[in-house]
Amino acid sequence: MNNFHKSPDFSLHIPPSMWNSFRQAMLSARKTNEEVIGFLFCQRHQISKRQIRYFPKAWVVPAPDCYEHQSAYGLALKEEFHLYLLENYLSKGRLDVVHVHTHAGQETPCFSCVDDKYESEYARFLSSNFPDKHRLISGVFDESMQQSEFRIWHKKGNSCEAVNFYPSWFEIAQEQNCLPESDLMFARQKVFGEVFQRQLSELTVTLIGCGGIGAVFAEQLGRLGVKKWLLVDPDRLEVVNLNRMPGATRQMADQQWHKVEYVKQLIKKIYSTGSCVKTIPNSIEHKTAEREIAASDLIVVATDNHRSRQVAQELALKYMRPLVCLGTHIDIKPDGVPRMYCRVTVPPLGGGWCLMCGNIINLQRAALEAAPVEIENLASQAGYLEGINDPAVFWLNSICASTGVGVIQGMVSGFLNVEEGLDWIYQFPQCQWQHTNTDYLKTPDCYFCSSDDRDLA
Ligand SMILES: [Zn+2]
Ligand SMILES: [Zn+2]
Repeated sequence: MNNFHKSPDFSLHIPPSMWNSFRQAMLSARKTNEEVIGFLFCQRHQISKRQIRYFPKAWVVPAPDCYEHQSAYGLALKEEFHLYLLENYLSKGRLDVVHVHTHAGQETPCFSCVDDKYESEYARFLSSNFPDKHRLISGVFDESMQQSEFRIWHKKGNSCEAVNFYPSWFEIAQEQNCLPESDLMFARQKVFGEVFQRQLSELTVTLIGCGGIGAVFAEQLGRLGVKKWLLVDPDRLEVVNLNRMPGATRQMADQQWHKVEYVKQLIKKIYSTGSCVKTIPNSIEHKTAEREIAASDLIVVATDNHRSRQVAQELALKYMRPLVCLGTHIDIKPDGVPRMYCRVTVPPLGGGWCLMCGNIINLQRAALEAAPVEIENLASQAGYLEGINDPAVFWLNSICASTGVGVIQGMVSGFLNVEEGLDWIYQFPQCQWQHTNTDYLKTPDCYFCSSDDRDLA
């Protein structure tokens, strides 16, 4: 046992809807062939010395006529097709190759010695024939693609290590077995499945901003079943917050509770035991926040300033965490009629567009806020300022928070596809939801989210 040379934990995440398409393609290819091969081309993401995550950028399941021969002793792709595949995808950046194949039968598959020999040669071939020294991850599934084993090969092809596979955005177990005792509290949600309920109870959610939207969001996602939280907010409760914070009292405001402590109490009221709530009564830019946020499954930002949203987006990109952005806006037209909006934005995890290039936030305002926020926080801690900002009402915040909770339910269950990202805007009194066409948000050369730039960095 040598802890100094302990290798990192490897995980491979395939977003639910991509996983469904890949799995369907593999299963239908199995109709013509006993064994089939599929490829995923993945971006490697080093979270820490101890943790490396892989996310696919593309997948390919070759058609039957791409094979040289097929038998129980192994598969061989036609050489020219195989080279075309690798040259085409590996030239798109420092992607690593995931090679997936199936074994006959329904039992948990194991790599065979034929697999060992072939994959070892393949790992060597990849690292010696391409300038970026791509690595090989291999996976084997049973014939119905339920059970799997994954491993990553060393460049020399002489050893490998286990990889945890998640057909999910999140690091939560997928097995159907060993379900906990079903909780009567969730009897009315049973229709969504016990796996869904267990996934929620394992999910760790970072909430940045525990104000009018964040508090309602936490109350609702907590009631849905999320028990692990990281709360980040430097502010304290004030009397002006009491129009929109569920369960907040005058006494809490008088005692200047930190907003993170108030939201923690909301969660603790739902779960007197079994919940885990960490609080950071500080700015998201504080160093202690970054490590904790990186370790969480999902980032939700519900602050009222552009700067903190920018930082949340940068952290989400840096640590490849899904980001859900919630906001509301109210103004009064010259004729006295109010216009009310709420906005729910989920930028795509693998890049393509982000809060900055999608103009969801304003960079000039973010820059202006960067310095004054710190000064304002110092001033309000000293009791000099009362934070009366933009207009805000409980019911509009609730529409926004509820929709955000629904989006997360869809992401966990896989019934909502957020791979291209989403940006929904609700308008009142028109009472309309507008779905931004995310094709228009794509910005290939974005300073923040363009993956090519990050690879070269
Ligand atoms: Zn095999
Ligand atoms: Zn961008």
